[in-house]
Amino acid sequence: MTNEKFISFTMDKTKHIALVAHDGKKKELVEWCDKNKDVLKNHFLCGTGTTAKLIAEKTGLPVKGYCSGPLGGDQQIGSRIVEGGIDFLIFLWDPLESQPHDPDVKALLRIAVVYDIPVANNLATADFLLGSKYMSETYDRKVENFNITIQDRVNQFQGK
Ligand code: PGA
Repeated sequence: MTNEKFISFTMDKTKHIALVAHDGKKKELVEWCDKNKDVLKNHFLCGTGTTAKLIAEKTGLPVKGYCSGPLGGDQQIGSRIVEGGIDFLIFLWDPLESQPHDPDVKALLRIAVVYDIPVANNLATADFLLGSKYMSETYDRKVENFNITIQDRVNQFQGK
């Protein structure tokens, strides 16, 4: 186990991209994916249930579908980020509608920051990310070494 405060996770040239859009944003994400399918086809795609299916049907690209967002799909994607199976998120949440699963939305956005993965919450950011040189290179993201954090906390509670 390393004693470094941060651990590097190397993202491959091929990214694992999660795609999520609230209902008011689905059309724009589907159209954006269709417009960018020549780039997206080089990466692994997944998404919340409805979003994933809509994108797959429109673009013909394979998109692994998790549960629908309100039924836990956001949480599934969050857990895949924690496990290292997703390293890129395009999440068009709707700023003009309240969501029954708002806590899940916040949790997903938070965990993406914790794990230092690129996140786009609007299409302008998605365009900038997709145009980045890192889309076709490896990239080292830096994540706090929670093993040390846990050991420090255990020591603290044990009075060491
Ligand atoms: P959906 O979920 O793709 O199944 O609609 C998205 C969401 O609301 O988080």
